[in-house]
Amino acid sequence: MLIQSAEVLGRGVLDVRVEGDVISALGTLKPLPGENVLNAAGGLLLPGLHDHHIHLRASAAALDSVRCGPPEVRTADGLRTKLRSHRARTTLTWIRGTAYHESVAGDIDRHWLDAVIPDLPVRIQHRSGRLWILNSAAHEILLQNAKAQAPSLIATLQDASDGRLLDHDNIITTLLGRTALPIAAISQQLANFGVTGITDMNPGNDIDAHTQMALWQARDELLQQVHLGGREDLSELADNDRLTVGPFKLHLHDHDLPDFDDLTATMRRVHASGRPVAAHCVTELALVFTLAAFEEAGSIRGDRLEHASVTPDALLDQVAKLGLTIVTQPHFIAERGREYLHDIPAAEHALLYRCRAFIDAGIPLAGGSDAPFGSLDPWQAMRAAVLRKTQDGAVIGAEERLTPEQALALFTGSANAPATPRQINVGASADLCLLDSPWDIVRDDLKSQHVRLTLIGGRPVNESRR
Ligand SMILES: [Zn+2]
Repeated sequence: MLIQSAEVLGRGVLDVRVEGDVISALGTLKPLPGENVLNAAGGLLLPGLHDHHIHLRASAAALDSVRCGPPEVRTADGLRTKLRSHRARTTLTWIRGTAYHESVAGDIDRHWLDAVIPDLPVRIQHRSGRLWILNSAAHEILLQNAKAQAPSLIATLQDASDGRLLDHDNIITTLLGRTALPIAAISQQLANFGVTGITDMNPGNDIDAHTQMALWQARDELLQQVHLGGREDLSELADNDRLTVGPFKLHLHDHDLPDFDDLTATMRRVHASGRPVAAHCVTELALVFTLAAFEEAGSIRGDRLEHASVTPDALLDQVAKLGLTIVTQPHFIAERGREYLHDIPAAEHALLYRCRAFIDAGIPLAGGSDAPFGSLDPWQAMRAAVLRKTQDGAVIGAEERLTPEQALALFTGSANAPATPRQINVGASADLCLLDSPWDIVRDDLKSQHVRLTLIGGRPVNESRR
């Protein structure tokens, strides 16, 4: 395939030839006999975007779900209406809600849900991903399944008589099984955004998840390259072209921090196997604890901090010296900013999802959607990184704004070097994203609507928009 007249950042307008799964030539090129030719008309050609932090299975599951929190739903009445209308439309035997936040209707429980949907099982996930709220019908199904399949889980379910299951995601998957997920649909959405690779950062990813990803790729349901972070048992698996083992995911919770010596022993063991560690840090406490652990265990290339949601100036140097990459979600400012301004002390607003301060401190910075907890569309994250605006137009952390070029670079690194933009070079893999306009226009209008063509391994994978 010959892509004519494409803009390549820093190099002007060129012709780009793709043969097989690589870029074979760059420059002023004449079509070969029978070659497929596409005139890019000056549109920008990028390395395919990489989402450096996503939960793929949960994102697929969310397609069949109803969103129960801001910005779509903000009030108890709004939630009742949304659930009832979903119930009226759905042909599903379950109602699955996502993205609940207590600003909507407080700490809702089984009785609250029963009053809205008494006759169909309902489970609603809190937007933190940690809490499920069940109605009585759902609670009863889980209890019966536990009695039949997993008696050890009965007590936990009985303890959760209010229908609130905290940090028991495994119970849901164990007792309900993995229903067929619309993986092809979510993969297609990513392709339409120009995403050619993902790093799945679900902490529970294990050998089974690896097998499942490989199967989805083999069936062509999952188009993207996958870098699979997760549990320690993944360390023993071999990489192939399309599926590689990512960092060990460390999931810390403030209320339940692990024993420090155990933690550093685990980190040393993981590092000794050549694998980096990615630590989930959404509070200052978790960050301080994690940095102390890295100081003690040492850091290696590829170690990362996921989110770094709250980072005081005093910690920037330490992060930089440890060589840790930060994988951030600036779109949370756009999606959740109103709640942040309401819930978080004013003194901390400037410390939320920082971007510019990290780059200025020499900290490698990359972006991830964290979908389904954040929007799947990386262009929304780029736009939020530049504008830092909430839904209401208020600005959070104006000093943290990135240039459009810096924002784009959050998503053009490779799985293993997330903060280093890949280049369009001869010999580079033909994972590419072609936009309908030059960078001069797109840089002021960072939107996925500009994606015209996505190639993965040289193959067009996006749905045509025209
Ligand atoms: Zn996540």
